[in-house]
Amino acid sequence: MKNTYKNRYGDTYTFTRDENHDILWEGNFEYCRTGMPNDYTRAYAAYLKDNEHVQSLMPFQQFKDAVHEYDDETHQYIYDKYVRMVDSLKDEIDMVDPSGGPYITRGMSLGSFGFKNYVVKDFKPVDTGIKIITEKCAYCNQAGGIHKMGCETRKMTVFLDDQVKDYYDQMDKEVHQNRANLNE
Ligand SMILES: [Zn+2]
Repeated sequence: MKNTYKNRYGDTYTFTRDENHDILWEGNFEYCRTGMPNDYTRAYAAYLKDNEHVQSLMPFQQFKDAVHEYDDETHQYIYDKYVRMVDSLKDEIDMVDPSGGPYITRGMSLGSFGFKNYVVKDFKPVDTGIKIITEKCAYCNQAGGIHKMGCETRKMTVFLDDQVKDYYDQMDKEVHQNRANLNE
């Protein structure tokens, strides 16, 4: 399956699904912005060290948001010291934005490029463009919320109506995430 997308400048990009249900993105990447994910390890370690004797510390997840908070009155970052220590994971890409679009980030749906329920997990540069690695079912390795006949997920949800199904889909996601963490 191959879909074509024309951006604001009239450049054409193609999105081709491969046999692994990942999507090859081809076109002009000569003028292209890419983003690297933030690495909060160093900043959080410093925060913990500075606050050794403080009773209630921010958990890591909360810290990741809070460290970017900006005070509009003093025109300073609230955690100025730590925000300077936020590093970038230089070997990873979490955002791709060619001049004129389309802007695509991790976690984004690829529905507007013709791949319904496909979600971006990662980007890998390849010779002819960028390979978009998609989120897969942890049981049957299918993308786009589709499952093989024998998939455990399908067995669990096949009899449920849509409203209940949405709830279970969310549960499935969490179960899968937990399961994925276990496998690491
Ligand atoms: Zn499945």
